[in-house]
Amino acid sequence: MNRRYRKTIIAGNWKMNKTASETKKFAEELKTLLPKAKWCDVVVCVPAVNIPAAIKAFKDMRVSVGAENVFYEKSGAYTGEVSADMLKDLGVKYVIIGHSERRQYFGETDVTVNKKVHAALEAGLHPIICVGESLEQRELGITMELIALQVKSALAGVPAEKLRRCVIAYEPIWAIGTGKTATAEQAAEVCTFIRTTVRHLYGARIARSITIQYGGSMKPSNAAELLAQPDIDGGLIGGAALKPDEFVNIINAANQE
Ligand code: PEP
Repeated sequence: MNRRYRKTIIAGNWKMNKTASETKKFAEELKTLLPKAKWCDVVVCVPAVNIPAAIKAFKDMRVSVGAENVFYEKSGAYTGEVSADMLKDLGVKYVIIGHSERRQYFGETDVTVNKKVHAALEAGLHPIICVGESLEQRELGITMELIALQVKSALAGVPAEKLRRCVIAYEPIWAIGTGKTATAEQAAEVCTFIRTTVRHLYGARIARSITIQYGGSMKPSNAAELLAQPDIDGGLIGGAALKPDEFVNIINAANQE
């Protein structure tokens, strides 16, 4: 973390978990556990149908609500899809784009990720752009090339003034939901590389100010070490974000003065 230059953001990704009533219950429990002063921003990304319940439940808690996906067109004949304007209108602040599960199961590509980033920015949302390599790609030694490609294509055509609203999450696929965390050194190496990539694209001042998260089995026991890395400015958390006590312990790890 480096709070002097950029925000620390702890974001939960609930994936396809919890009903609207469970959302309310989670918020009530979280409220009793959250530290009074927060030096990091807290975001909870919930399934689309739970967004209204989440907006209501997290209202007075300084917890922002995020979506887990968005479609890139503004409106029209796209059955089942949700636009960025619809999310914004509900009070959503963040949206996860290009999560590896969406790339793997729903055909998301670097091209659609880029379109979604533009749509989110246009609507005034803050995209959390996910990038990350598979185990095979890591073992082939092409992690950095792949990450550079994903970052460059996600940000293609995004002007500098809009980049301030983007967050990049480094999520090695082999660490997501597997219990296998990247070591702090592995995570830091890639997050630093992402910042260097952004520096080449946008210059040093903007690269210094962008929030880069790590995601992949982050939990209370490893959060402090990961967040101690200067280029890791927070976490995108799946499993551990479903339990208020675990989520708060990660927030506390990011909340050190
Ligand atoms: C994720 O879904 O983005 C994630 C990192 O999941 P987990 O923390 O469960 O590995």
